[in-house]
Amino acid sequence: MLPDSFGRIATDLRVSLTDRCNLRCAYCMPPEGLDWLPAPDQLTDDEVVRLIRIGVERLGITEVRFTGGEPLLRRGLAGIVARTAALRPRPEISLTTNGIGLTRTAGTLRAAGLDRVNVSLDTLRPETFRKLARRDRLPDVLDGLAAAAAAGLSPVKVNTVLMRDLNDDEAVPLLRFCLDHGYELRFIEQMPLDAQHGWKRAEMVTAQEMLAALGREFILTPDDSRQRGSAPAEAFLVDGGPARVGVIASVTRPFCGTCDRVRLTADGQVRNCLFARSESDLRGPLRAGADDAELAGAWRRAVAVKLPGHGINDPSFLQPDRPMSAIGG
Ligand code: SAM
Ligand code: SF4
Repeated sequence: MLPDSFGRIATDLRVSLTDRCNLRCAYCMPPEGLDWLPAPDQLTDDEVVRLIRIGVERLGITEVRFTGGEPLLRRGLAGIVARTAALRPRPEISLTTNGIGLTRTAGTLRAAGLDRVNVSLDTLRPETFRKLARRDRLPDVLDGLAAAAAAGLSPVKVNTVLMRDLNDDEAVPLLRFCLDHGYELRFIEQMPLDAQHGWKRAEMVTAQEMLAALGREFILTPDDSRQRGSAPAEAFLVDGGPARVGVIASVTRPFCGTCDRVRLTADGQVRNCLFARSESDLRGPLRAGADDAELAGAWRRAVAVKLPGHGINDPSFLQPDRPMSAIGG
């Protein structure tokens, strides 16, 4: 198991498969992109799968989510998914993606064992997409969403970040779109994880504002049918249900006290929190010949020292050195 000193147990592993991306979302990356990790620094497919196996077999990991950067850019993704699905006890396997390329890959990934997908979609307006993601790819994302649903990935969730004066007027149209297509929408508060350090507390669109905007068009009632547990999203029934919408208020209503996540970066570092200011190297020992028990021990020690919370709202808060795209969102 992976307990920390505050009684939380990490069971949900987020694996970043690359720090590269084919979009440049304003809340994530600068327009020119970033210095990508050199290839030799990145874990090979075999190394990634070995660490996931240790997590599942020895450390109580029950859920594995592949992310990035853009995980669909990782050539070996389907093979990594298939080998993860072959582990016992079989973990739940999900993917967070910008959706570009899903039209080609959704069926293969489903067949390989992918259970669920989250597709990021912040706008339905092509010109806003161009401004926000700095690429003209909205049709690819919408087609990717449809392909995910057609491939039987269920539920298809949509992640939306609202940014002031860019897409903060789209909460209602995005929810309508998701209701019409059977996708489950979750709004995520913008967090201070962009590479350019442009996040400002006073400018972010809060969960309260999002709910107020939705509340003018829909009747939202807290969804009591599901225990929230460690889920970061607060769920609401839309117009009596069964459709739901979620809000992840990472900044204004932090859920650190029930966090069950641990992260593995594409270069083999364990991070016990998105906002951690330090990380623990597993790649070095792995390549130096450490056995499974030694790697599991290093991983346990990394999680044991997890801090009680992210501290975004403290005056002393310092943004982590790695941006979201290099940690794995
Ligand atoms: N490229 C994939 C995607 O966009 O879904 C996976 C990686 S991305 C870093 C994972 C999620 O993090 C996306 O839903 C994205 O919207 C979200 N994200 C990125 N930067 C963020 C930030 N500064 N605050 C909140 N969410 C952010
Ligand atoms: Fe790429 Fe995802 Fe970051 Fe957008 S949020 S730039 S799609 S990694």
